[in-house]
Amino acid sequence: VKTGVKYVYRFDEGNAGMVNLLGGKGANLAEMKSLGLPVPNGFIISTEACRAYMKEGVGLLDQLWPKIVEHMHYLEHVSGKTFGGEENPLLVSVRSGAPVSMPGMMDTILNLGLNDRTVLALTENTRDPRFAHDCYRRFIQMFANVVLGIDLDHFEKVLSEHKKQLNIKFDHQIPEENLAKIISRFKEIVKSESGEPFPQDPWAQLKMAIEAVFRSWNNKRAVTYRKIANIPDDLGTAVTVMEMVFGNLGSDCGTGVLFSRNPSTGDKELFGEFLINAQGEDVVAGIRTPQPIGALKEVSPHIYEELKIVAETLERHFKDMQDIEFTVERGKLYILQTRNGKRTAKAAVRIASEMVKEGIIDARTAVTRVTPKEIEQLLHRQVDPSADLSSIAEGIAASPGAATGKVVFDVDEAEERGKRGEPVILVRPETTPEDIHGLSRAAGLLTSRGGQTSHAALVARSLGIPCVVGCEAVNIDLIGERFTVGEFTVKKDDVITIDGTSGKVYPGEVPLIEPSMHEEYLHHFLDMADMFARLQVWANCDTPEEARQARKLGAKGVGLCRTEHMFRESDRLSIMQQVIVAEKVEDRMDALEKLARLQKDDFVEIFQVMQGLPIIVRLLDPPLNEFLPKGKDVAKKLAQLRSEGRGESPEAQRLEILLKRIEGLQEGNPMLGFRGCRIGVLYPEIYEAQAKAIAQAACELIKRGVDVKVKIMVPLVATGQEMCMLRANIEKAVAEIAESYGENWRCKIGTMIELPRAAIVADEIAEYADFFSFGTNDLTQTTLGVSRDDAEGKFLAAYVRLGIYTEDPFRTLDRKGVGALMKMAVEKGRSAKKDLELGICGEHGGDPSSIAFCDRIGLDYVSCSAMRIPVARLSAAHSSL
Ligand code: ADP
Ligand code: MG
Ligand code: MG
Repeated sequence: VKTGVKYVYRFDEGNAGMVNLLGGKGANLAEMKSLGLPVPNGFIISTEACRAYMKEGVGLLDQLWPKIVEHMHYLEHVSGKTFGGEENPLLVSVRSGAPVSMPGMMDTILNLGLNDRTVLALTENTRDPRFAHDCYRRFIQMFANVVLGIDLDHFEKVLSEHKKQLNIKFDHQIPEENLAKIISRFKEIVKSESGEPFPQDPWAQLKMAIEAVFRSWNNKRAVTYRKIANIPDDLGTAVTVMEMVFGNLGSDCGTGVLFSRNPSTGDKELFGEFLINAQGEDVVAGIRTPQPIGALKEVSPHIYEELKIVAETLERHFKDMQDIEFTVERGKLYILQTRNGKRTAKAAVRIASEMVKEGIIDARTAVTRVTPKEIEQLLHRQVDPSADLSSIAEGIAASPGAATGKVVFDVDEAEERGKRGEPVILVRPETTPEDIHGLSRAAGLLTSRGGQTSHAALVARSLGIPCVVGCEAVNIDLIGERFTVGEFTVKKDDVITIDGTSGKVYPGEVPLIEPSMHEEYLHHFLDMADMFARLQVWANCDTPEEARQARKLGAKGVGLCRTEHMFRESDRLSIMQQVIVAEKVEDRMDALEKLARLQKDDFVEIFQVMQGLPIIVRLLDPPLNEFLPKGKDVAKKLAQLRSEGRGESPEAQRLEILLKRIEGLQEGNPMLGFRGCRIGVLYPEIYEAQAKAIAQAACELIKRGVDVKVKIMVPLVATGQEMCMLRANIEKAVAEIAESYGENWRCKIGTMIELPRAAIVADEIAEYADFFSFGTNDLTQTTLGVSRDDAEGKFLAAYVRLGIYTEDPFRTLDRKGVGALMKMAVEKGRSAKKDLELGICGEHGGDPSSIAFCDRIGLDYVSCSAMRIPVARLSAAHSSL
C-alpha cells in the first residue's frame, strides 16, 4: 500500500469521470447517487488497489483491511443494520467492474453476510422464511463457485433432484422445507469439494469475496474477452460493495434489465425484460424466460412510469442510450447499474441520428458514435422475403442478419471449426460468459432459452453475429448432439439457416438477399459525416445501374468507369474479335467504327446518370486475348469442319486466321504483357475510337443541356513518353469530334498510377496528365511481386498468419511499401503540377484504414465499389475528426 493513496471511495465521493479508478459500474453508481436517483448505499475499492493486489498478493488486502472495515461501519450506520448482526443483519453484494465494459466476464457475489445465524434474523425481519433460505442457498452457491472455484454442476444437480421429486419446474417454486435441506447439502458439497467448512464469519466471507473479484480479472473468459475486444490486460477491476436490496421478497418484488431505446432497431421506446420475484442474475442467465418490460405497465404502472423518468434522466445525463439494471423491493424501485448500452449497427445509426435531432448530442459526437465496421454490418444479408419458405421454428430475433451453416452443439468445437473458416451455427440451451471463445467464432447462434437481454443476445449483438434466442420449440439433446422441433430432427453437421432479423429458423440453405439499411437514418447520419470529411468518396461503376446506385449512396463522382464489359456483351464480342483479328488497318477501322457507335450509346446513358458530377472513363486495359475464344476450342471446331470435308470453307478460313491470332497473342504472363496503354501505343486507332465515342456522347448531351464532367484515363502507364504520345492522340480525337459538333469542348486526360516506375517518375508523367488515380490492385501486385490470383489460396493466408504481412495487402494498403510509392508519386506529381487531381480506385478505396492513409497523404478522393460507399464516407469523416 502506498501511503497517502486513497484506495476506497464512498459513492458520494465518486463521479462518472472517475471510470479509470472506480470502474464503469462504480463510477456510474456514484454519479447516479449524486443525481438523486434511488441507488442503495455502498463504497468502491479502486482499480489501483486491484493492480497493487496483482503485484503484492493478499498482503495488500491485509493492509487495506482497516479502511474496508471503516467503510463497512459507515454502511452499517447509514442502513441502520449490522454486518453479521443477529437482529437486523446487513447483507451486501460484492461486485466487479472494470474501466471498460466487459459484460458478465468477471464475478459478482450477492447476499454476502448470511450464515446459519443471520439467516434466522433475516427470517425474523422479513417474516419470510422461504425468502431468507432462498437467499442463503443462492449465496452459498455463488460463493462456492466464484470464491472457492467449485463447479456449479454439483449444486444444480441437488436443485434438479428436488424439483424433480416435487414435480416443479423453477427454483422459486421450491418450498422452504426443501430449501433447508438443500442448504445443508450445499454446505456438505463445500466441505467435501474445498476441504473446509463453509465460512460462517461474514468478515472472512467479505475478505475472500473481495480477493476473488480481484482475481476474476484474470479468469479465462475475461482474458479471452479482452483479447477479442482489444482491451489492455493491466487495467484491473474495481470492487463495489453495496447494500443488498431484494427482488425475491414476493410478488410485489422483481428485477429487470432496461434499455432506454431498443438496442436492435434503435426505436425510441423502453425496451427490456423483468422477472417478478427474482434476484439479479435470474434475468440475464436465461433460466426463466422473462416478461417484456411493456408488461410492467399493467403489473405495476407506477414503477413503469418511474422507470421511464429514470431512463430519460440517465440518457440526457450520460448523453447516450443506457442499459440499466433495476430491482423492485416491496414496491420500491432501486437502480443498480447503468452503462452505455450495446446496440446493433442499425440501432447505432438511428440513435446517433435521432439524438442530434433531440438536442442530446452534437453532430460531431454523433459521427464518432458509429464505427465504419458497424456500417459494414448494415450490409448484412437477409433471408429473401419473396422466397417461398417455411421455417421450422421461431424464437426471439436477438441480433440481425441471416447465417447459414452446419449445426454444432459443442462450444469448443464451434471455436475450432470457426477458426478454420467453416461457417457453423452454434446451438445451445443458453450460453454463459465461459462460452465466449466459441460464440465469437460461430457464424450464427441459436438458443432455446433466454430473452433479448440474455448473455447470448448481448454478445451476438456486440460481435455482429446473427442470433436467435429463446426458441423454446427447439428441444436440444446435447449428449446425442441433435435437436428436435416437433417431428423434425436436426443432427450435428446438418445445415440450417437462422434469421436474427425475424427470429426464424430454416432447415438447410435458403436464398439470401442484400440488406435494406434503415435508409432514412443512414442518409441523415452520413450527411452529418460528410460535413467533417475532407476526402471525397467516389465510386467505381461500369454500368448506368451501378452509377445510379452510387449516387443514391452519396458518391460524389465516378473514379473508375471501365469500358471492357461493353466489349464483352455477346453482340459486341464478335465485332471486338474482328478488331483484333483484322490484318489490315482499314478492316480494323471498319470494325472499330461499329464498336464505337455502340459504345457511344453506353456512354450517353451513364454520363446522363452522372450529370453534374465527375466521371472518369478508363480506356481499354486487359490483354486482347481475353476477348478471344480459347485456342483449343477453335482448333476443335476447325478439325471438325475438316473431317466434314469443309476444310476450305470461308468459315474454316476464318477460324484458321483466328487460331493464328490467338497463338500470336499467347502470353506467359498476361498481367505484365501486352495490355493497358501498350495496346493504345501499338494500335492507336483503338484508343482513338474510344476517345471519339466518349467525345460524341459528351457533345450530344451538352447540346441537350446536360452538365457533363467526363475525364479520360489511360491505364498502365510507366513512362512520361507513353503519356505524352497517348495524350496527343486523345486530344486530337476529342478536338476533331468537338469541332464536328461545333462545340469547344475539351476533357481532362489523366492516368492510373499502378506500376512502381510510374510512381517513381510521377513528375515526368504529371507533365502530360491532369490527374492521377492510384490503381492499388496492380500497384500492390507489381510492388510486392505477387500475383493476387496465385497468392490467394496458396501462401497469402500463411504470410498473414506468420506475421510476414501484418494484413492482407490486397485489402489493407501496405503502407510501408505501396504506401511509400504513393506518397512519392503525390509529392513528385504535385511538384510538377500544383493542381494535379489525386485519387485512388483500387479496392483499398473502400477499406477504412487505407482511407485514413489516403487522407493523410493528401488525395482528393477515394473511389470504391458502390456498396462500400457508406463505409468509405464514414471512414473519411473519422479520418478528419
Ligand atoms: P455483472 O457485471 O455481471 O452484470 P453485477 O455486479 O451487475 O454483475 O451483478 C449481477 C446482478 O446482481 C445484477 O443483475 C444486479 O442487478 C444484481 N445485484 C448486484 N448488486 C445488488 C444489490 N446490492 N442488490 C440487489 N441486486 C444486486
Ligand atoms: Mg450488471
Ligand atoms: Mg489495373
